[in-house]
Amino acid sequence: MKKAAIIGAGIGGLSSAIRLAVKGYRVDVYESNKSYGGKMKEMSMKGFRFDMGPSLLTMPEKLDELFYLANKNPRDYFSYSKLSEGCRYFYEDGTVINGYTDSKKFAHEVNKKTGVSEKLIIKHINKNLFLFDSTSFLFLEKSLHKIKTYFSFRVFIAFLKLPFLQIFESMNTVNKRRFNNEKIIKIFNRFATYNGSNPFKAPAILNSISALEFNKGAYYPDKGMFSIASALFKLCKDLGVIFHFKTTIEKISVENNIANGVFVNKEIKFFDVIICNQDIYFVYKKLLPQRYVLKSFLTQERSSSALIFYWGINKGFENLNLHNIFFSNNYNEEFKNISENNQIYKDPTVYINITSKMTRKDAPNNCENWFVMINTPNDKGQDWESLIAKARNNIIKKINRVLKINIEDYITCEELLTPQLIESTTQSFRGSLYGSSSNSRASAFFRHPNFSNRISNLYFCGGSVHPGGGIPLALSSSKIVDELIS
Ligand code: FAD
Repeated sequence: MKKAAIIGAGIGGLSSAIRLAVKGYRVDVYESNKSYGGKMKEMSMKGFRFDMGPSLLTMPEKLDELFYLANKNPRDYFSYSKLSEGCRYFYEDGTVINGYTDSKKFAHEVNKKTGVSEKLIIKHINKNLFLFDSTSFLFLEKSLHKIKTYFSFRVFIAFLKLPFLQIFESMNTVNKRRFNNEKIIKIFNRFATYNGSNPFKAPAILNSISALEFNKGAYYPDKGMFSIASALFKLCKDLGVIFHFKTTIEKISVENNIANGVFVNKEIKFFDVIICNQDIYFVYKKLLPQRYVLKSFLTQERSSSALIFYWGINKGFENLNLHNIFFSNNYNEEFKNISENNQIYKDPTVYINITSKMTRKDAPNNCENWFVMINTPNDKGQDWESLIAKARNNIIKKINRVLKINIEDYITCEELLTPQLIESTTQSFRGSLYGSSSNSRASAFFRHPNFSNRISNLYFCGGSVHPGGGIPLALSSSKIVDELIS
C-alpha cells in the first residue's frame, strides 16, 4: 500500500487526506496543534461559542463532493442552509441596505434606499457572473503551471475572453464608472477583501467574487463553521486516516530530487508522497534543504490580516443579522493605511458576525456572540499593542455611532485574535489570511504551483498556494493535487 504524509490539518490538509485515502493510500496527517481545522477553529467562553476564523461559506458543493467521492452522504456528516440575506450594510448617515442574495430583490432594495436604478444593479451582477463563469474553470480548477492545462478547449476559450475581463483596470475604477453612488461602490468594492486584496489596486476581474454571493449563494452550516472541519475530520477517520496531533514536521527528506520522507522528533518516516498544507513561505524557510529554496516565494507581498474581538454580549439586537458591515466613511483611506502605510485607519470598516442569530445555543438566552473584525495590514513588526488599543477604541466608537448605544455596557467577556497570533497558531507568514496578495494583475500566475518543479513526490495545498485563500479555493487546491498525483 502506498503511503502519504500530509503536513497540516487545515481545510487543505483534511481535504487532501480524504482524496488520498479514497485513492487507496495509507494517509498520516501531522499537525502541530492539538486539534484539526487550522484557521477554522472554535472557542467557548462563559456560555458563548465562537467560530474564530472563517465565517462565510460559499460553494458548499466543493465540500459535498468529498463525501460523494468517498461514497458517503454528506448530510450524515453536516448540513447547511442557503442565506436569503448575505450581508447587512450599515452607513453612518443611518442608511441600512439588506444584501439579499436574490439579485432582483437586492436591486429593488438598493433602488429603494439609494435611488440607483435596479437595471444598473442587475446588469452589474450579470457582468460579474459572466466574469466568474468565464474564468473560474481556468483560475480555480486547474493547475496554471502544467502545460497540458493550456491544451484544453475550455481553457483556450477562457484565454480568448481575457482581454474583455477587465484585468487592466482596478475594481474601484470599474465600479466607479458603473455607479455614481459611493454606498453601492463600497458594497461591490468590499468583495476584494474576500481574498485579502485592496479594491483600489486589485484587478477588476475580482469583481467576479460577488457572483459567489449574488448568484451562487451564501450559506451557513447549521452548527456553525467549525462543523465543516469536524465533518471533514470524521470522514477522514471513517476512511482510516491516521492523525498525529501536537506533532510538528521539522524537515522534509529529499534524496536525488525525490521527497521520500519527513522528520518527526529528529527521526525519519518514509513516504511515497508528501503534501504540505503548511504556508509555502515556511515550507521553504524551514522544511526544505537550502538548495531548493525559491527566493521569489520568500519575498512575495502577502494578503492583509485581521484583528478580531470575540465579545459575549448580554443583549439582543434585532436590527443586526448574521453578517453585518459598518462601512468606513473613507474606504480609500482605509485601504491606503492597510496596504501602503501598514497601519490601521482611524475609521475602520467593522464586520460583525453573530452566529447565535442562526444557532441559538451559541449564546445564553437574550445574549449574542459577536465576532467583531477589521482588516489590518499583515505583521511587519508594527507596535501592535498600541495599534490594537487604538483600534478597539475606534471600533467601539463606530458601533456606538451607528447603533446609537454604548456597546461597552453589554460586553461581558472578551478574547482577541491578532496578526501575530494568527501566525503563531497556524504558521501563516505575517499572519496573512489568504497567502500571497492578489493586488496585482498577474498574481494568479505568480502563486506557488501545487507541485514542485524540482522535487518529485512533493505537493502543496491550502490557502498559500494556487488557486489561493478561502475555503473553496483551499478545497480546489487539494483537488488539483489529487489530479496531479494521478
Ligand atoms: P490553515 O488553516 O492555514 O492550516 C494549516 C495547518 O498546518 C495549521 O493547523 C498548522 O498548525 C499546520 N502546520 C503548519 N506547519 C506545520 C508543520 N511543520 N507540522 C505540522 N503541522 C503544521 N475563508 C473563507 O472562505 N471565508 C471566510 O469568511 C474567511 N474568513 C476568515 C477569517 C479569519 C479570521 C481567518 C484567519 C481566515 C479566514 N478565511 C476565510 C480563510 C480560511 O480560513 C483559510 O483560507 C482556509 O481555512 C484554508 O486553510 P489552509 O488549508 O490554508 O490551512
